[in-house]
Amino acid sequence: MINILFAAKPANWVSYEAPLRRALDDTGLAYNLCRETTAPASIDYLVYAPTGPVNDFTPFTNAKAVLGLWAGVEGITGNETLTVPLTRMVDEGLTEGMVEWVGGHTLRHHLGIDRHILGQDGEWRDYVPPLARDRTVAVLGLGELGRACATALSALNFNVLGWSRREKSIKGVTCHFGDDGLEQILSQAEIVITLLPLTAGTENLLNAQRLSKMPRGACIINPGRGPLIDDDALLKALDTGQISHATLDVFRVEPLPKDHPYWAHPQVTVTPHIASETRPASSSRVIAENIRRSVSGEPLLHLVDRKAGY
Ligand code: NAP
Repeated sequence: MINILFAAKPANWVSYEAPLRRALDDTGLAYNLCRETTAPASIDYLVYAPTGPVNDFTPFTNAKAVLGLWAGVEGITGNETLTVPLTRMVDEGLTEGMVEWVGGHTLRHHLGIDRHILGQDGEWRDYVPPLARDRTVAVLGLGELGRACATALSALNFNVLGWSRREKSIKGVTCHFGDDGLEQILSQAEIVITLLPLTAGTENLLNAQRLSKMPRGACIINPGRGPLIDDDALLKALDTGQISHATLDVFRVEPLPKDHPYWAHPQVTVTPHIASETRPASSSRVIAENIRRSVSGEPLLHLVDRKAGY
């Protein structure tokens, strides 16, 4: 019997219990799925969310793996009580949702949709946006989400630049890597989308110096993590017009405090960390598949490289 602890918020249990049981049933394994346990040493696998009840993994002495429900793992990579393999969530539903959110917000800025939504005042605005082929957009981070967004934007005909830590080749995307690559990208991109994980190497990546290198009037779309951007530097760049708009889904403190200047800033759109979400049906299949793999001695999918931090 395999013992699985669902270590996430009670609200998650409500949406996950049935799909997770279905996905586990499909593996044919004999399992016991519980929400809490008085015998942590009996637990084989933890299905884990950072907002759930487990922070100390020490009592789970027989755990084989911790299977994360979130794509972002910055809250757990530094946890020294975790000594077994950690996987993060790569879920087709999460990816699809991110492509839709990024696509929508990119098109908003590209087409200048606000001119008309906010301009229902009798003035005949005859602005014609350039074609996507003449608009350069950059996607920083070319992992599961960044790659899918870059590919979708390329399919819409945007001139897409991409940036990652290691060298990459993606059809329809001009890929750069390393510090030099970032400078080159930022100097060209009129819309920059940040889909990087939060690590020591990415914190405050968009700082005053880098924001100043971008074409005047560029837009930023950040569904990655709040600390990727130096907030004070961004607010200054917005005030001077260096950056014309920032659409921000993630923040250093969430929920974003009511008195934060982003809320009232006319050139900022705040969305409440809803760019995309792990979907219970598809992500349950990912969790079940990893348990099946672990039981049969196959390599786990989506292992976190704890040294790299993602
Ligand atoms: P991923 O597959 O791990 O990809 C991360 C990408 O970032 C990789 O391309 C990686 O480069 C690149 N990268 C990491 N450190 C870098 C550095 N120092 N310099 C340059 N590139 C670097 O992650 P993912 O699944 O695409 O998710 C990305 C992030 O999105 C998550 O970490 C999370 O923070 C965020 N997210 C947000 C939401 C939301 O609703 N707002 C939802 C899900 C996820 P390599 O390819 O060279 O390794």
